[in-house]
Amino acid sequence: MARVDRRRRFWNEPTLGWWERMYIFEIVRGLSVTGGVFMRNLWRWMTGRKGALTTYYPEERRADFARFNRGKHVLTQRPDGSPQCVACNMCATICPARCIEIEAAFDPADAAHPRSPARFEIDYSRCIFCGMCVEACPEDAIRMVQDVPDLPSTDRSRMWLDMDELLNWRPQRDVAKPYPPKPGASARGAR
Ligand code: SF4
Ligand code: SF4
Repeated sequence: MARVDRRRRFWNEPTLGWWERMYIFEIVRGLSVTGGVFMRNLWRWMTGRKGALTTYYPEERRADFARFNRGKHVLTQRPDGSPQCVACNMCATICPARCIEIEAAFDPADAAHPRSPARFEIDYSRCIFCGMCVEACPEDAIRMVQDVPDLPSTDRSRMWLDMDELLNWRPQRDVAKPYPPKPGASARGAR
């Protein structure tokens, strides 16, 4: 028996009139829209104004990120400037891209925080910005902020963010959890 393929119908399936079915008119219309935008932007550029929404990255950085933009990782700090991370490896374990590498250090003299990261690096050539590392962290030690890392490179080995860069981040507005913590604030109050 011949197999009958039932094509799935969508709520917004387009219906073409005879005008659209001719194609040539719609192609001309599309080209006129594209050409009009191109000419307008070219004219603005020639007269010293900025036309297109294009950002000339990396020379130019946009700051109008979406409210929930997750562009760059940061490691949060305790009031004394040490990383809040306890090197538990949960972020590295959950990371689907396997792009977080952590080496733990142990300090028996620090009874409150004996474990800390000696090395914490993220390979941005593989990161997919999913945010699962942030979700998995039990210490609120890693976050993603509205920023872009310095990614452009011709060498993948230069696309690693190390701990210095992850700790040295521009303070962001976070009403619920202001960072960096004020000197003298308790660790709990800073969270
Ligand atoms: S954002 Fe996703 S892919 Fe990137 S480091 Fe975190 S868990 Fe891994
Ligand atoms: S950032 Fe969080 S989840 Fe990752 S190792 Fe540090 S404490 Fe653990």
